[in-house]
Amino acid sequence: MALLHVLYWTLRYALPNVFAASTPLVVEDLAHIHIHDHAPKYSHDYDHTNIHDLPPPAFNQAYMSVSALEAGLVDLPSLLTVSDATPNEIHTVPSLAFLLTHSQSGKRIVFDLGLRRDTEAYAPYVQMMIDKWMPVTVPQNVEESLRMGGLEASEVETVVLSHLHFDHIGDPSPFTNATFLVGADAKPQITNGYPINPTASETTTCLPLSRTNFLPHSLFDISIGPFPHAYDFFGDGSLYIIDAPGHNAGHINILTRTSETGGWIYLAGDSAHDVRLLTGEREVAEVEQGGSGQKLCLHGDKKSAETHIRRVGELMKRKRNDVHVLIAHDWEWYEKEKKTGGKAFWPGVIPAMA
Ligand SMILES: [Zn+2]
Repeated sequence: MALLHVLYWTLRYALPNVFAASTPLVVEDLAHIHIHDHAPKYSHDYDHTNIHDLPPPAFNQAYMSVSALEAGLVDLPSLLTVSDATPNEIHTVPSLAFLLTHSQSGKRIVFDLGLRRDTEAYAPYVQMMIDKWMPVTVPQNVEESLRMGGLEASEVETVVLSHLHFDHIGDPSPFTNATFLVGADAKPQITNGYPINPTASETTTCLPLSRTNFLPHSLFDISIGPFPHAYDFFGDGSLYIIDAPGHNAGHINILTRTSETGGWIYLAGDSAHDVRLLTGEREVAEVEQGGSGQKLCLHGDKKSAETHIRRVGELMKRKRNDVHVLIAHDWEWYEKEKKTGGKAFWPGVIPAMA
């Protein structure tokens, strides 16, 4: 049973990155998988003995109001996410998206689009995995979540995608006027996507390329807090797009102010799939495949992912306790939030920490 879970979750998360699948898959196939490595670009310049501070607010500091958006649910066994998990520890987790509104200009950003309901629009490889291994449920997608709060997707100016995995890219088509921002290193996943590569997990048409900006590394020209490479998006210190290497090519996060007086939120995407990784209680899981010696990990580059996780974890240890760190699949936060009325969901707002 444990082996089945491992196979299921390997297919669901890790393999789209690393493996051109042929069906049917058998466990023996996994022995031949080559895990690609994105060279750790920045891990050398991280000194984790040095606790960095975040900049204080300026006079009349701009900030972002941040609202969570329902965007579908998936089941996630902890065996694939954290060390020392048991096979029967499986959580139904949200695939969270967020609406961020600039306090002074009213400009709107949506961060991640979660899951799409019409799974036939995904690349055949992803469809196969969903059909065979991973049913997804989308009671409410991002477009519907925005509409319930009185906003049409067509009114959103900017969509930032943490990365291009299917549980984050959702359905971009209702965002007819948005510019899509994606990390530069993710570009080949689209340009070499399906049908050019018949077994790719992204399609060449998954985003409107005429309205997609692949953010070059040169934009990430400042450091902030523990992060060496950040992009001050509005130029006013309200929102930083953070280079977040490790999970998938071009993975990015958002660090944004949530009040005029010094509160922050860190939207960590898939930097970690479990809060216990950020607190240091657990290590990133590696799953060994049936006697092959081959180890699989949800992150394309485990070492870089661990370095970034430590950086994110620093935000949670600040004496001021002024940063709310939220990962895309944080089921504990989600369940608590739902039990207490869901006020963090649009048109509600996630309360500022300070
Ligand atoms: Zn994910």
